[in-house]
Amino acid sequence: MRSKRVLVTGAAGFLGSHLCDSLLRRGNRVIGVDNLCTGSEANLAHLARESRFEFVQQNICRPFDVGTVDFVFNFASPASPVDYARLGVETLLVGSAGTLNTLEIARHHNAGYLHASTSECYGDPEVHPQTETYWGNVNPVGPRSVYDEAKRFSEAAVMAFHRYHGVNTHLVRIFNTYGPRLQVNDGRVISNLMTQALSGEPLTIYGDGSQTRSFCYVSDLIEGILALADSEEHLPVNIGNPEEWTILECALEILNVTGANQNIAFKPLPQDDPTRRRPDIHKAKTLLGWQPKVKLREGLELSLEYFRSCLEKQLALKA
Ligand code: UDP
Repeated sequence: MRSKRVLVTGAAGFLGSHLCDSLLRRGNRVIGVDNLCTGSEANLAHLARESRFEFVQQNICRPFDVGTVDFVFNFASPASPVDYARLGVETLLVGSAGTLNTLEIARHHNAGYLHASTSECYGDPEVHPQTETYWGNVNPVGPRSVYDEAKRFSEAAVMAFHRYHGVNTHLVRIFNTYGPRLQVNDGRVISNLMTQALSGEPLTIYGDGSQTRSFCYVSDLIEGILALADSEEHLPVNIGNPEEWTILECALEILNVTGANQNIAFKPLPQDDPTRRRPDIHKAKTLLGWQPKVKLREGLELSLEYFRSCLEKQLALKA
């Protein structure tokens, strides 16, 4: 992806803003769209004087026009369990009307299209590790359904625009990702535990901490996504780090990296919290020649400064 005019929705979000940076580094022009319902302008502040970047505040659930584009990255959606629980209807709308609107843009301009899908499509998986051919185990009426079913609808919509309208589409199933610009208050495990470790509060573990996740550092994820965008693959591809951690192990790693030694506070496990999650990345390896490079320890160290500075800003605001 070089020297193109590219639309990124969800540009002010954690992944969207890193994607904008990588696209600009590769010589593209970028139009970043976001309605800022969970994204933050601070994530794009460093691009204020970048002439090849333009920001448009817009809710993609309504049809919109940003002129001719060569490629669309659709990354707009609340994404943390806390955010999509708070914004349930908005999450359903952006994953349905929003996705259809952005697909129409790609169809109209004969542009390529990549949709940010999710490991949540697998629900609480009965197949481990999760391969792209597994159809998932999703509760369609549970608290996570607003996110999971919106993302599954989006996958169906993307495949339909490929099959019926010949749009050059791509689907990435993103597994847990972390790094600088992760919202500090989004309730996710890495942001919560890093913040708690740095501010001397007990680390909250939901359930007994034996549930697993596999954490990918943001730069690895963006590299995989850009490789997929340049490929000819239309079916979903998992991008994530296959190293699997129990949440308790992850908490201990965070204590190691921060040098903290707090207690752990066990809290109830949220309903439908998946018991395990680990991507099978054979497809990405063989198809894209991609695999993650950054180990959890190293990625947490790379994120430390960011979480520290967020806490300092919060303290300064309170003072
Ligand atoms: N979790 C936890 N303590 C926290 C936040 C999350 O133990 O302070 C657990 C949560 O119950 C889940 C895992 O960590 O099992 C990952 O949660 P997260 O919200 O980061 O994302 P998910 O992978 O569930 O979408």
